[in-house]
Amino acid sequence: MIAEAGAGDLIEEHGCIYLYKSERGGEAAARDAAFREKHGVKLERLSAQEVRDLEPHLAPLYRGGIWFKDAYVIASPERLARLLARAIVSRGGQFIAGVACDLRVEGMSAVIRANDKVLSADRVVIAAGAWSRELAAKVGDHVLLDTERGYHVLFPQARELLTRPACYPEHGFYMTPMADGLRAAGTVELGGLEAPANWKRTMMIRKAVKTLVPSAGEGTSEWMGFRPSMPDSLPVIGSSPRTDRVIYAFGHGHLGVTMAGITGQLVSELVTCARTSLDIDPLRSDRTL
Ligand SMILES: Cc1cc2nc3c(=O)[nH]c(=O)nc-3n(C[C@H](O)[C@H](O)[C@H](O)COP(=O)(O)OP(=O)(O)OC[C@H]3O[C@@H](n4cnc5c(N)ncnc54)[C@H](O)[C@@H]3O)c2cc1C
Repeated sequence: MIAEAGAGDLIEEHGCIYLYKSERGGEAAARDAAFREKHGVKLERLSAQEVRDLEPHLAPLYRGGIWFKDAYVIASPERLARLLARAIVSRGGQFIAGVACDLRVEGMSAVIRANDKVLSADRVVIAAGAWSRELAAKVGDHVLLDTERGYHVLFPQARELLTRPACYPEHGFYMTPMADGLRAAGTVELGGLEAPANWKRTMMIRKAVKTLVPSAGEGTSEWMGFRPSMPDSLPVIGSSPRTDRVIYAFGHGHLGVTMAGITGQLVSELVTCARTSLDIDPLRSDRTL
């Protein structure tokens, strides 16, 4: 779909690196690496010198790292979304902007009310991220969806300083070279959908980036985002247990972009009543948690 949408040049394939500073961090990284390798993840262990050769602008605070070779970056998720949307419209799809505030099943149809519009369809897909809980409740499904809030700071002058995403797990955020600059984003805050943002978190990210990439310059464009998270870290993908007119696709937590492709495929299979290409029973909305 990326290729069909003409978005291939947004994909940058240089893997990503996890770094560690202490012997203890190295031991934890080695355990993680062994586990991941067992599950087919391609990776390479790096000495401090090898990290330096790959990323000379990182302050040499590391003892070593792990290079995940298959990871790739979408240089601009916004541009990708726009190109995918354009491809959908060119094939006859339609976008109708509005806030869905009611959802009902009437006979053979699912009916959505959004602002002053009423839309009726054979099937409705609820993919409203952290806000999906309320919509699922409209058809009587109670899901334990919450939000893990994360924070972002962009360093516009630092685009060229890293070739691939780098992170120290102990700092809780990634530094990723994107089209607009170096994106430092991450941390986890359990603060719900309503509480104001806590900008101390972005101050902490700014301070840490100064230490980790000393020439990164000043950060701009701060934001807080709502990861839609389930208690067991698995998404909800599948029909409502009450009606196959309503299909759920939310709760992807930290990995919603990573899992977007497979989620889209599964949803298209559900909508067309085809056999799903994965067993999605563990992802049902009424699973025991
Ligand atoms: C700081 C940060 C860094 C991240 N980094 C990564 C990463 O590197 N890789 C990765 O894979 N994932 C990452 N994630 C996670 C990823 O962003 C989420 O998992 C993903 O956005 C979830 O996608 P979604 O479509 O389910 O929800 P969202 O992206 O939240 O989209 C839901 C949409 O539904 C709309 N909506 C809500 N309610 C209604 C309604 N009633 N009517 C109409 N529309 C509605 C919202 O406005 C929103 O546009 C990161 C998240 C954060 C916060």
